[in-house]
Amino acid sequence: MKFQNTREFAQQLDSQDELKNYRNEFIFPQHQGKNVIYFTGNSLGLQPKSAKKYVDEVMNDWANLAVEGHFYAEKPWWDYHERFAEPLSKIVGAKPSEITVMNTLTVNLHLLMVSFYRPTKTRYKIICEEKAFPSDQYMFQSQVNHHGFNPEDAIVEIKRRKGEHNIRLEDILAKIEEVGDELALVLFGGVNYYTGQVFDMKTITEAGHKVGANVGFDLAHATGNIELELHDWNVDFAAWCSYKYMNSGPGNASGCFVHEKHHQSNLPRFAGWWSQKKEKRFKMEPIFDPIESADGWQVSNLPVLSLAPYLASVEMFAEVGMEKLIAKRNQITAYLEFILHEIDKEVDSTFEIITPSNQDERACQLSVFLHGEGRSLFDYLMSNGVITDWREPNVIRLAPVPLYTSYEDMYEFGQRLKQGIQSLHK
Ligand SMILES: *Cc1c(COP(=O)(O)O)cnc(C)c1O
Repeated sequence: MKFQNTREFAQQLDSQDELKNYRNEFIFPQHQGKNVIYFTGNSLGLQPKSAKKYVDEVMNDWANLAVEGHFYAEKPWWDYHERFAEPLSKIVGAKPSEITVMNTLTVNLHLLMVSFYRPTKTRYKIICEEKAFPSDQYMFQSQVNHHGFNPEDAIVEIKRRKGEHNIRLEDILAKIEEVGDELALVLFGGVNYYTGQVFDMKTITEAGHKVGANVGFDLAHATGNIELELHDWNVDFAAWCSYKYMNSGPGNASGCFVHEKHHQSNLPRFAGWWSQKKEKRFKMEPIFDPIESADGWQVSNLPVLSLAPYLASVEMFAEVGMEKLIAKRNQITAYLEFILHEIDKEVDSTFEIITPSNQDERACQLSVFLHGEGRSLFDYLMSNGVITDWREPNVIRLAPVPLYTSYEDMYEFGQRLKQGIQSLHK
């Protein structure tokens, strides 16, 4: 499609947008009486209007039923989490039995590493991406230390080539082969948080398995954003947070995937009463007999109040379906890219989009390196109703989330960006 940098053109795209009504299902912060232009759904998704209703339902059941709510609430609390399995399995390409929700992301990756990072004297290395999200880096270091290995030796980062912003698949595959028999685990992001690069999880998984390693993914920036086929790709495990693209609210519960081939294994794990088979759970007997599904990796009973807004959001995703989301995501991201290039020409500035330009290698995020104004331009945007985020040394990340971002937002953003640059040049 040939894009135009005009309000009329953007409005026309909005009027043809199949998802346009979903924008009204979300609550936007206000700037001078209008919705902000919200580019940080990759950090904290907006609040769906239905979230409050789901939370109120739990509050009311708690008030009216107290302890009996565990079994007699409208949605009983003791198996509240089971309502996620079906819709989430569609979002990540899994079987319902492969899905569970619990805890938070880094905690879950640690718990899953108890099962899937089982280093031996000779096979103990972990392959990950260079500049992984800091929480993941600390997690790797502490896991390796916990098992008595040296992080400098045991953690193998795949680096970007000099002068390049993204990691090449061929370099990942070559390193997996090189580490070979020493490789215990490949744990990669599905989408790099900084650049928005999407990794080829299918190929990485195959390569890891070929040398005898387990393969898992941190899907913080992938779930609800890209197409996933975790089951068919034969991924061993994965986890994601729900507060980014999944709009479940700050610090909210995380989702996990454990491939069904591991459900009946006797992999070591950290156990609790919620991993115990349901029919035995309340017998309180001493012998542990875990559920033969991803739920068998749960530990504690679940934070139902925080699951409630996540459920509201997951049901909305299930209703829309990833296919439509991805179609709009591709178009609106391409439109934003077009707008950025247009403004760059008009103001003779020097942005550099460091996210891959190839649609197969990116999702709904453009990371823009500001060679010119930098931090002052970011501050200008923030005080003019454009919510974006700043990453050192000079990058803003823009995520036009398809569920609630409009094409007119992209046009309007371009105008404010131009005004910002012009006012800073004066
Ligand atoms: C956001 C994010 C996290 C956050 O972890 P929490 O445990 O939820 O605080 C971890 N890893 C990646 C890749 C992220 O993007």
